[in-house]
Amino acid sequence: MRFASLGSGSRGNALIVDAGETKLLVDCGFSARVATARLARLAAAPEDLTAILVTHEHSDHVAGVFALARRHQLTVYLTHGTYVEAARGKSALPACRVIDGHASFAIGSLEVLPFPVPHDAREPVQYAFNNGQHCLGVLTDTGSITPHIVDMLHACDALVLECNHDRALLAASRYPAVLKERVGGRYGHLENAQAAALLGQVETRRLQHLVAAHLSQENNRPELATRALASALGCSEDWIGVADQEDGFGWRQIM
Ligand SMILES: [Zn+2]
Ligand SMILES: [Zn+2]
Repeated sequence: MRFASLGSGSRGNALIVDAGETKLLVDCGFSARVATARLARLAAAPEDLTAILVTHEHSDHVAGVFALARRHQLTVYLTHGTYVEAARGKSALPACRVIDGHASFAIGSLEVLPFPVPHDAREPVQYAFNNGQHCLGVLTDTGSITPHIVDMLHACDALVLECNHDRALLAASRYPAVLKERVGGRYGHLENAQAAALLGQVETRRLQHLVAAHLSQENNRPELATRALASALGCSEDWIGVADQEDGFGWRQIM
């Protein structure tokens, strides 16, 4: 199993998980045209995809989902609450599967394990993936860490983990107070220290890849995120990957 990012941050997110025959796109916060160009950077194309999974209805995650699905006849998996919000004003999807945010399901050779997260959306989930040998966990867009999140991300082989902001940079930023409260609140986004604390709660001995994601361009810096995660793991800072808004990150193989 391998995975890569088309870009990550408040201006768009998309992640591709490739288990051979099964290739899943997690979110598409880019236009269909931009997503197609970014897939090409990874030597992939929309017609290679098996399905699109959606985490929640915020535009940095769904902006291109409907157009990409229609253009390439892709099935879209999402919770009922996400569907209700995301489908407003959009024409119908070619194929849509409403999922239970607590129940795992299979797509081809991959077991997909959704889990609910506290975020200010209608019915947001994040996902873990298991190919029978290895597990990839993805966690962005959560305001806090719940015991259920800890359970779902236990002993992953690879983890894509939100490091949205640094608490001090957010407090000092020019964001209006209401936005600071939203981003830093229980239903907002994870700060570096919260992401680092999660690593102290889950088994990390199997971890082959750790990538910081969904970094704020205003309220974080890559070196602050990698420093926080590296000190939690006791590893070197350059072992930690960072997902970039423009470039995402290239293929990472889980062996
Ligand atoms: Zn987001
Ligand atoms: Zn969001």
